[in-house]
This record gives sequence, structure tokens and C-alpha cells, in this order.
Amino acid sequence: MPTDPYAWIEQSLATIHRANWYRSPQTVEGRPGPVVRLDGRDLINFASNDYLGLAGDERLIQAAVNATQEFGTGSTGSRLLSGHRHPHRQLELAIAQLKQTEDALVFSSGYLANLGAVAALAGKRDLIVSDQYNHSSLKNGAILSGAAIVEYRHCDIEDLKTQLEKHRQHHRRCLILTDTVFSMDGDICQLPALLDLAEEFNCMLLVDEAHATGVFGATGAGCVEHFSCAGRELIQMGTLSKALGSLGGYIAGKASVIDFLRNRAPSWVYTTGLSPADTAAALAALSIVRVEPQRRAKLWQNVAYLKQLLRSSGIIPVSQESPILCLPVLDAGAAIAAAKQLKASGIFAAAVRPPTVPVSRIRITVMATHEPAHIQQLVEALSAINCSDINDLKRVK
Ligand SMILES: *Cc1c(COP(=O)(O)O)cnc(C)c1O
Repeated sequence: MPTDPYAWIEQSLATIHRANWYRSPQTVEGRPGPVVRLDGRDLINFASNDYLGLAGDERLIQAAVNATQEFGTGSTGSRLLSGHRHPHRQLELAIAQLKQTEDALVFSSGYLANLGAVAALAGKRDLIVSDQYNHSSLKNGAILSGAAIVEYRHCDIEDLKTQLEKHRQHHRRCLILTDTVFSMDGDICQLPALLDLAEEFNCMLLVDEAHATGVFGATGAGCVEHFSCAGRELIQMGTLSKALGSLGGYIAGKASVIDFLRNRAPSWVYTTGLSPADTAAALAALSIVRVEPQRRAKLWQNVAYLKQLLRSSGIIPVSQESPILCLPVLDAGAAIAAAKQLKASGIFAAAVRPPTVPVSRIRITVMATHEPAHIQQLVEALSAINCSDINDLKRVK
């Protein structure tokens, strides 16, 4: 008989190390921004989802401080019990206004918004059809729902149609799930075609706008606005933790959908309400998104400049549709080596490896607050990566 029921954990960790899949957090010092301090050195930050540079903005910080003074640090209970405060509702109305929906519901994180909404919207007799590259929170929400799950090939509308033709009729209700901007590839879904298929096969559609809110669309409402689909029937999810510089998540849609989720989404009913500080910071961010469209314009200028410099250096990202630009590398070891060499050249960028993604890559995210010199330094550093074990960086995927 084995004597230690926990021994497998160390063996499992050893396997993770051997595959170069081991991960651990790096400590960032000071406020977030285009330059951050790591291990006592200033690095240009291409590893953050703070697309508009709001997480270190004085106005968000003041809003959080003021809300903490007025309402305290914790919400003290679930929203239905004792944790519902005035700023929560103000934030929900501001989200609904941005998204042009009847209502919205704020969750304590984007992950919890997806878990709770998907689990509430589908059940055992239903079908969930999901893009193969969807975020972990959508995938786990689908599992939690107990519905039958079918994945379609990434962004492949033909395959989605084939799967619907094959499976839809055997289930009561159907929910299609997709990221609008894919977090680890940076490409975007074909929303109008997805909406057409949802209509044709009588399916609900939930889109995850985590990387699109504040970034895409004339007013920053996201890909739904970008594709002029705001009037069509769908459910939108997003996060307060990326371009909005705070923490939390939301679902926006018809009043009946939101009312239903308030009663049925387990990750909303049974968790503590978002803290007053996070709520107020997100509310301040939404008003900045509304009155400072030049931030979004600057972000897209920076993206265009980076794409131009990459092109002249012969470096071709997986996709060029969003501020997320990913450069495929040979394997996990090469990704680690590349990230290390970038760090030595003053650049902070993420080495993304399996099991997060099938193909290892360097993930670069652009911010509105990057200076042209930051972007030039990035491309110089990327061009210098040329040793034999990371020579794949310049190869097209
Ligand atoms: C980050 C992310 C989430 C989760 O949002 P959090 O607020 O960080 O929990 C959900 N979906 C996608 C696509 C994401 O990138």
C-alpha cells in the first residue's frame, strides 16, 4: 500500500517542470503603467491588459479611495443579503448605457460572470456549442451547466454550422459561446455570421467582450458595436479588469435575462458583492472611456505603428486585428528563452505555453500610454532574438 496520498502532487510538479510548462508569478513593483519595475529594473511593459492605461490613473485611484472612505473596504455579504450598495447599481446602469442594453449585472470577476451566466442559461437537456479557443471561464461554465458540449473549430463558421446541423435537433435549448477578441491569439470572431446562425438554429448567443470593451467600437462598447450589431439579440459578457483598469465582470442584455441571472447565477447569488473601491474605480473608468475617445485612438495608433515596424523587420504575428499581437515560437523552452532575452533587453512580455495554448508564443499587448520609443525598443529587441533555439520566432505560423 502506498503511504503518502499526496505524493502524486510532487511527481506532477516534476512533470510540469520537465515539459517547461512550470509557471510562477513575477512581482511587479509600483503602479501599473507602460514602464514597470521588476526585480529592481525598469522594463517596458507589453504584458498588461490595461489597454487604456487606466489602472494607474489618478482619477480611478481617487474614486476608489473616496468610495472606501464612504462605504468601507468590503461589501460584507452577497448582493442579495447585505452587500448591495448604491455604486453597484450606478455601475450597472453605466454599463447598460455603454452597451446599449436594457440592463446589466456586475459580478465579482469576469471569470465568475461567465461561470454563473453559462451555468444558469443552460442545463442537462441543452446543448452548448463553443469555439475551441474560448476562454477557460466559458469552458468551465459549460461544464458546470451540465449541458452537452460540442466544440467547433476556431472561428470556423462552416464547422459551427455543421455541428448545429448534426446536434441542435437533439436538444431542448442551445447556447453558442465565443470570445469576441481571442485572448491568446488576438483575432476576432465573425459576429454577424454567428448571429445569423444563432437565428437560423434558434440558439442563444453569449459573447465574451473581455478584450474588446473600451477598445473596439466608436464609443468603446466593444466588438458588438464594431460590427454594428447592438440592436440584435444576444448576451454580452465583459470584464472590468482589463481596459477599465479595475476588477470585476458583467453581463449586459435584456432586462429579463439580467433579472433571471440575479435569481439563478450561482456565482452572483452566493458570492460577496464587488468591493466599493473596485466598483467606484470601474465607474470612473467608464466615464473616462466616454469622454476621452482620444485614448482609444492613441491605442490604435500604437497598434498600427507596431504592426508597421514588425512588418519592416519581417516579424509576422499570428493575427493583426487587435492590440494583442502573438509571435509563435518553436516550443515551450524557446518561449521561456525568448521572454528571458526580451527581459534582458528591457522588455516585459509574456511567454504563453501549453496548456493555456496549443502552440507556445510570445504575447505582446499594446497600451494607449506607450510612447513611440517604447515600441521601437520592443521591435529592436525582437529582431535581436536570433539564436538557434529561438530561431522560429520569425516564421509564420
Ligand atoms: C480575462 C478574461 C476573462 C476573465 O476576466 P477576469 O475579470 O480577469 O476574471 C474572461 N474571458 C476572457 C476572454 C478573458 O480574457
